[in-house]
Amino acid sequence: MPVEPLGPTARRRRGPRLVLLALALVLLAGLVLPEQALVPVQGASARDWNPRSFWFEPWGASGVHKGIDIFAAEGRPVLAAVPGLVLYRGELGRGGQVVAVLGPKWRVHYYAHLQQVHAGLPRWVARGQALGSVGRSGNAADKPPHLHYAVVSLVPLPWRAASGNQGWKRMFFIDPGELLGPASRAEGLAPSPRLAALSM
Ligand SMILES: [Zn+2]
Repeated sequence: MPVEPLGPTARRRRGPRLVLLALALVLLAGLVLPEQALVPVQGASARDWNPRSFWFEPWGASGVHKGIDIFAAEGRPVLAAVPGLVLYRGELGRGGQVVAVLGPKWRVHYYAHLQQVHAGLPRWVARGQALGSVGRSGNAADKPPHLHYAVVSLVPLPWRAASGNQGWKRMFFIDPGELLGPASRAEGLAPSPRLAALSM
C-alpha cells in the first residue's frame, strides 16, 4: 500500500508540539539542577542571622519580612549563593542597591542593601562569585549593615501557603535558611542576644 506523505496539516500540528516539548524539557532541566547554596556573605555563618526573622511580622512597610538579614561589616563581599543568570542589578526602592539572580529550580535569589554592586558583574555568575559588598542602602540606612537575602520561587508551591497576613505569598518565598544547608543552619548555634534584638 502506498504511504501517504505527511500533508501540510500534519506538519503544522507537529510544530507546536515540538515547541511544548522543548519548553517542558527546559522547565524540567531547571527543576533538576542541583541547588547547593552557600552563605552569601564572605566569612558569615548561621550565627550572623536570626532564623526566626524569616516571615517575621510586623515588619515596616513590607508588613512581613520575606527573607533573612545577614549582618556583617560594611564592605564585606556579598557572594552568589547559587550560580545563575543576573536578571537585575541596580537601584530598586526599599532594597537600595540590589542584585537578582535566576538560579536552579526557577528560583530568583535577591540580594539587597548592598553598598555597591560590582561594576563588571557578568550576566552569568558562578556559585561564590562576588556580586558586590555589604552595605546599608535603601531602607536599611537606620540599621547596622547587613545583607537582606530572599529567595523567590517562580513556580508556585501551593502546599506552603499559610493563613495569616500575606500567607498566600509563602507559595513563592522560600526560607533562605532552609537552603543554606545543615552545616550553616542553627544547630545549637543560637544567635547572640545582640543579633536577635537587631534583626527582630
Ligand atoms: Zn531584611
